[in-house]
Amino acid sequence: MTPLEPEIRARIAAHGPLSVAKYMELCLSHPQHGYYMTRDPFGARGDFITAPEVSQMFGELIGLWAAALWKTFPATAGPTLNLIELGPGRGTLMADALRATKIVPDFHDAIRVHLVEMSPTLRQRQLNTLSSCGVGVQWQYDIMDMPWGTNIIIANEFFDAMPVHQAVKVEGGWQERRVGLDGRRLVFVQDAETMWRRDDVLPAGMRNAPSGAVFEWRQDWWIRYIARRAANGAVLVIDYGHAESGIGDTLQAVSRHGFVDPLAAPGEADLTAHVDFQALREAAASERVRVHGPLTQGEFLRRLGIVARADKLKARATPAQAKDIDAALARLTGAGPTGMGELFKVMAFAHAALGELPGFET
Ligand code: SAH
Repeated sequence: MTPLEPEIRARIAAHGPLSVAKYMELCLSHPQHGYYMTRDPFGARGDFITAPEVSQMFGELIGLWAAALWKTFPATAGPTLNLIELGPGRGTLMADALRATKIVPDFHDAIRVHLVEMSPTLRQRQLNTLSSCGVGVQWQYDIMDMPWGTNIIIANEFFDAMPVHQAVKVEGGWQERRVGLDGRRLVFVQDAETMWRRDDVLPAGMRNAPSGAVFEWRQDWWIRYIARRAANGAVLVIDYGHAESGIGDTLQAVSRHGFVDPLAAPGEADLTAHVDFQALREAAASERVRVHGPLTQGEFLRRLGIVARADKLKARATPAQAKDIDAALARLTGAGPTGMGELFKVMAFAHAALGELPGFET
């Protein structure tokens, strides 16, 4: 049994089954036993690998994107830009972004870097990564503590870790799915009560879903809150998921680069679910920001010039290094089971008066 499991069982015994979202939240962010709170899960020897860890090109291009966008801001935006990253992992994206933007006139003088990170272990890791970046960095524990002002917010693989609720289609409606106990085992159960009797409260793609279909949703306040903080600037969301809402159970647990049972080792495997970009778009729309995209990650990175960047790096590389650069390029932009280029989507919300954003030109 994992250290977190007795606490989950006790909660279920006392108060009944937990929503999938509550279960996910405990597994990831329980102060003592949460997955992210106690470990650095990234990289070849960890549990999974993210785009900034695949190649320096990713963070460099995102940094240059932010600097190019900042240059289009009107003078009324003020002299200071808060460059904010949500859930920065090891701090690799920000380190690459800051290195690449050294050459952009005045950019480093204008920025204040803020990292929003709940995990003490990862905050320490980020501090080490950024100790010689030459720019002042501040940490916030919670998105509620993000600064106001002119903000550019970056969120790579952040939303997939936000807790997700699930409902299952039954005869005559939908029932919320929860985590309960069957003797000694954690199991998925369903509420006896039906939550929506009418399909027409759901996005069009879900109407007349077959019995047993699963619908997932996240609380809107996350994205609305972040969109409001980006209303004087922009937020860039990069994550795996679908452009349109649909049915499907995407809750997944990953450990040592493979899928595991989400209920098998609470707190010791990463738990995520696909991001529903249509739901993000609809939630952000109420904050009067302009929505850009989604595009696929492959398309976005090509528009930002990743192929030319790879060529430039290869010109100074050994043959073995050049092979690695090509492999990283294929991983970041390609399709197929190991490619991030199609599955990952990129969406931005920005001040309504800004025109088209770099990379999102139509
Ligand atoms: N962006 C990084 C890491 C992605 S993993 C990369 O691409 O490599 C998710 C990150 O979000 C981790 O740093 C995790 O600790 C952080 N995180 C997850 N939920 C959070 C929350 N509710 N508040 C703040 N940080 C959170």
